[in-house]
Amino acid sequence: MIHQEQNGVPYYTFEALGDYEEIVHAIFTRLGGVSGPPFVGLNVGRLVGDDLAAVETNHRLIYRTLGLSSRQVVTARQVHGDCVAIVSADDGGRVVPATDALVTGTGGVNLMLRYADCLPIFLYDPERRAVGLGHAGWRGTAAGVARRMVSMMAECSGSNPSRIIAGLGPAIGPCCYQVGPEVVQMVKPALEDWERALHHLGGNDFSLDLREANRQQLMQTGVRGIEISDMCTACHTDEFFSHRAERGATGRFAAVMGIRESR
Ligand SMILES: [Zn+2]
Repeated sequence: MIHQEQNGVPYYTFEALGDYEEIVHAIFTRLGGVSGPPFVGLNVGRLVGDDLAAVETNHRLIYRTLGLSSRQVVTARQVHGDCVAIVSADDGGRVVPATDALVTGTGGVNLMLRYADCLPIFLYDPERRAVGLGHAGWRGTAAGVARRMVSMMAECSGSNPSRIIAGLGPAIGPCCYQVGPEVVQMVKPALEDWERALHHLGGNDFSLDLREANRQQLMQTGVRGIEISDMCTACHTDEFFSHRAERGATGRFAAVMGIRESR
């Protein structure tokens, strides 16, 4: 991933998406915002107990960094499900209820979701100019949200999966993501090669590699170009919010993706 900075607000972009000037995409960190402990500093989670005025300021900082207005951003109330919403210009400024992935083919509509360990999934089809942004923890992975994003892009924008470019962002890595048998039981059937994503640690314990699991699901749909970040959010709480490493007392960082308005 490429580290960028604008007005003191750092963010990352994918190398694979960097050549497409018609899209906006960024993964923000926890740096560059105004929230106080334990949400220091660029927290965009409104439901974590942070001061809402600080959260609003953080949103404004993000929009300014990308040159967007709040009316050009669509977000969602994330519930660890597999619901994918297709959004358009009418949805600008809206929070879509109970949804973990957003897809659009409309210029000037920017998708934004919030993360603290779960996996950010970016999809772009340069041929049909459609974008998707998703959020997958173990529940979303078990439900196959990545696969559903690709089929929604195929259905609604006519995307050929082999043309889609994918980016999997910073998330909790297998180094820090120990899971029990109940998670293994749910995730296993969703994967073709589960042994590559679930590593046995001994006894009933496994570690889950969210990026490998979602890479497999994308490959299964025919997506071939997949860039994968190697940053673990739980290993780097200086840079990212981590629900697991910070025992729930933390904020959410933002990922944004959209197609620029054509002039
Ligand atoms: Zn780690």
